[in-house]
Amino acid sequence: MATESAPSDEFDYVIVGSGAAGSVLANRLTEDAGVRVCVLEAGPPDRHPFIHVPGGFIKMLFNPEYTWQFKTEPGEGTAGRRIPTTQGRTLGGSSSINGMVYNRGQRADFDSWAQRGNRGWGYADVLPYFKRTERRLGVHDPRYHGSEGNLPVTDIDWIHPICEAFIDGAEGMGIPRCLDYNGKARRASATFSARSTRAIARARPACSSTPPGRAAWTYGPTPAPRRSCSRANERSAYGM
Ligand SMILES: Cc1cc2nc3c(=O)[nH]c(=O)nc-3n(C[C@H](O)[C@H](O)[C@H](O)COP(=O)(O)OP(=O)(O)OC[C@H]3O[C@@H](n4cnc5c(N)ncnc54)[C@H](O)[C@@H]3O)c2cc1C
Repeated sequence: MATESAPSDEFDYVIVGSGAAGSVLANRLTEDAGVRVCVLEAGPPDRHPFIHVPGGFIKMLFNPEYTWQFKTEPGEGTAGRRIPTTQGRTLGGSSSINGMVYNRGQRADFDSWAQRGNRGWGYADVLPYFKRTERRLGVHDPRYHGSEGNLPVTDIDWIHPICEAFIDGAEGMGIPRCLDYNGKARRASATFSARSTRAIARARPACSSTPPGRAAWTYGPTPAPRRSCSRANERSAYGM
C-alpha cells in the first residue's frame, strides 16, 4: 500500500465512475485514514455554474461535454422514435444534472422484490438505510426519516398555485393529499421533497477531508496533469 503523504500511482481501491454510487463509495472508503482511493471519471470536473444553480441542470442536458447523449433504439412502442436517455458525465454523474427530487420508491415495490427471493430488500430492511443517509430538515416523522445522515432533505418552500389547484383537483376525485410521500402514504398526491445535494454532499467531503496523496480524481478531457493516477487512457489526475 502507498504511503499517506507522497503522491503515488498506487491505490487500494479504484472506482470507475464518480456518479452517485462512486462518489458515496469514495467518501465512505476515505473515512479510513489508511486507505487510498482513485476515482476514474470519463467526464470533466463539475465546475460548470449550471450544475450548481437550481434549475440550471435543464441546460446541461443538452451539453455533450457534461452529459452522455444516449438515445434508445427506435422501436414499435415509440413509433420509430429514438427517445433521449441522457446521463451525467462529470463529477457526481447523473446526480450533478438531476432534478434533486427525494423519492425513495414505493413500499410495495421493495416488498415485491423481497417476496421474489431477494432477502434484505423488503421495505423494513431498506428503511433503516434510508434513515441513516438522510438529514431531514424541519418537521418530520422519525419513524420514516433520519436527521443525522449526509443527505440534506427539505420540503420545497414555495408551491406554484397551479400545483395547489392540481392537488385540490385530485382530492376532489378521491385521491388523498399527502404531506410526505416518503412516509406512510401510498396512493396520494403531493409536492416534491428536495435533496439539497449533488456531488458536493457525496464526494466533496472526501475531497476536502482527505490528506493530499490519499485519493485522486482522474477526469477525461482535462488539461495538463498535476499528478498521474492511471496512465491507461492518458488521463489527467487531480490530487485532493
Ligand atoms: C436528467 C435526470 C434527472 C434525474 N432526476 C432525479 C431526481 O430528481 N431524483 C432522483 O432521486 N434521481 C434522479 N435521477 C436519477 C439519478 O440521478 C440516478 O439514478 C443516479 O445518479 C445513478 O447513479 P449511478 O452512480 O448509478 O450513475 P451516475 O450517477 O450516472 O454515474 C455514472 C458515472 O460514471 C461515469 N462513467 C461511465 N462509464 C465510465 C467509464 N468507462 N470510465 C470512467 N467513468 C465512467 C459517468 O461519466 C458518470 O459520471 C435523474 C437522472 C437523470 C439523468
